[in-house]
Amino acid sequence: MQRIVLASRPEAKPEPANFRLEDAPMPTPGKGEVLLRTIWLSLDPYMRGRMSAAKSYAKPVEIGETMTAQVVAEVIASQHDGFAVGDLVIAPIGWASHGISDGTMLEKITPGAAPLSAYLGVLGMPGTTAWVGLNDVGGAQPGETVVVSAATGAVGSLVGQLAKQKGMRVIGVAGGADKCAYAEKELGYDVCLDHRALDRKALTAAIAEAAPEGVHVYFENVGGKTLEAVLPNMRDFGRIAICGMIAWYSGAENAPPAPLVWSAILRQRLRVEGFIIFDRWNRRPDFLAEVAPLVKSGKIHYRETIAEGLENAPAAFMELLEGGNFGKQLVRVGPD
Ligand code: NDP
Repeated sequence: MQRIVLASRPEAKPEPANFRLEDAPMPTPGKGEVLLRTIWLSLDPYMRGRMSAAKSYAKPVEIGETMTAQVVAEVIASQHDGFAVGDLVIAPIGWASHGISDGTMLEKITPGAAPLSAYLGVLGMPGTTAWVGLNDVGGAQPGETVVVSAATGAVGSLVGQLAKQKGMRVIGVAGGADKCAYAEKELGYDVCLDHRALDRKALTAAIAEAAPEGVHVYFENVGGKTLEAVLPNMRDFGRIAICGMIAWYSGAENAPPAPLVWSAILRQRLRVEGFIIFDRWNRRPDFLAEVAPLVKSGKIHYRETIAEGLENAPAAFMELLEGGNFGKQLVRVGPD
């Protein structure tokens, strides 16, 4: 089997030398365990946090340890009563071609609603994050205006579509003309603004123009310049659901001064709430009940960027952090 381990901790942006591909003997499942073969590996921005030793909501990956990830895998040997050979599962076995599990945190997939890869994206953790963040955290209501950053990504693309289906005015912020065209034409955003083409002042003015009544809900995925541009456009008593701040995962460039942020929160009486999806995993069945049929019927669109082969995971991950992905970033590790 093969796996990718953390070779060293990045100082700022991750570099190839921070990762190491290793060969290891094929593990054998013991009593109560299964052996899994990875088909799809999910690459997610949170993995940048796990590469740092800094205290966070989850423990860091240690040097020499396999990088954390969820995968879609097939059970290829089983000594576990709940899983048979051939079962397909979502499993937290990391950047690896194979892994052993005792069943903890394994979720069985019943294929049919969508291709297997979708269970790491629109029907997986990012999709669940989008639905929970918009509804439970953001308290989004029909008729309101929402801004979504990283608007065409794994999380953002579903936030935008769900908001539109709810009857909201939906403004996206994304990087590049292609992503913005896709957001407006395929995902149904009313307007999408290109943060690469607009400086902070121009982005602030463009949001004001796109949201003449102000912004009720900001679904925050990035921080940085986009946050600074959205803040003055928030309506009094607006809500910000803080899902991520990818612009700052490798350093605090483009950080608005704290007095500016705090005074906006105070003067505009904003409710700001950060959330981590695993605290709200009990909502996953409700999410799947609502969104899986929408995906199956084609009412929800999604895109994927696919890297081929486990050895290409580090390069794909580094690109993801720079916006090189268009939709959910995946690695195909083995055949379906
Ligand atoms: P995406 O598929 O959206 O990929 C990341 C995107 O972030 C890039 O494509 C890029 O889009 C954008 N980006 C990168 N750098 C910057 C920057 N400096 N300024 C603005 N945008 C930038 O990833 P996900 O959908 O998986 O994740 C989106 C966010 O949600 C992340 O912050 C992630 O950490 C967070 N998240 C949080 C969870 C939680 O439980 N709280 C769970 C899952 C995700 P573009 O080219 O459009 O700029």
